[in-house]
Amino acid sequence: IFITFEGPDGAGKTTQLKKLAEELKKQGHDVLVTREPGGTAISDQIRSIILDPVNKEMVDQAEVLLYAASRAQHVHQLILPALAAGRIVLCDRFIDASVAYQAYGLGVDVDMVKAISRYASSGLQATRTYILDVPVEVSLERLHHRASGTGENAQQLDRIELKNVDYHSRVREGFHQIAADHPERVRVVNANRNEEEIAKEIWTDCNRLLEE
Ligand code: C5P
Ligand code: MG
Repeated sequence: IFITFEGPDGAGKTTQLKKLAEELKKQGHDVLVTREPGGTAISDQIRSIILDPVNKEMVDQAEVLLYAASRAQHVHQLILPALAAGRIVLCDRFIDASVAYQAYGLGVDVDMVKAISRYASSGLQATRTYILDVPVEVSLERLHHRASGTGENAQQLDRIELKNVDYHSRVREGFHQIAADHPERVRVVNANRNEEEIAKEIWTDCNRLLEE
């Protein structure tokens, strides 16, 4: 089973993914937690190129292909072998992020992004996708809060997060469109609530999925 978490920056994907992983492990499942872009040494090196705010001059074509290259390595080196070994794979972002960010956000052709992603992942698709949805203002507010903090969750804004509100609004619309296009796979979760409520909703759905 391959489960992906999607949604805007600051929606709480990583927190929810960890909670779900813990519940699954308690039930005795063998779980692999990973993320995009990243997950392998090569994919992580590509991640730093994509996200480094110094790379302001990066063109859209390069951005799309770098995400795809990172994904290709991740899928073939890590995810497919884990799935073949019967593990449950939880991935922080996957192809839907490329459709939302590069296609809807940047304006790259949707079918092109999908075709490149299909090639990169050899057609691998998520079994279930949770889109954690928050209004753009909430997401940007959380990001800036995180960026100004000094605690263990403090994190500078990356090149994509630094883009403007219009861009982030198009990304959110993109996620909504993806959910409408794939009702059988995608669940939109209202992430503008407390962590426990969100976790419970995801856990209930995931349990049903495991029983299928
Ligand atoms: O989720 P996380 O913040 O770690 O993702 C890294 C960054 O890459 C995010 O800021 C996200 O906006 C961006 N991203 C993207 N397109 C993708 C995947 C991630 O722009 N396909
Ligand atoms: Mg981010």
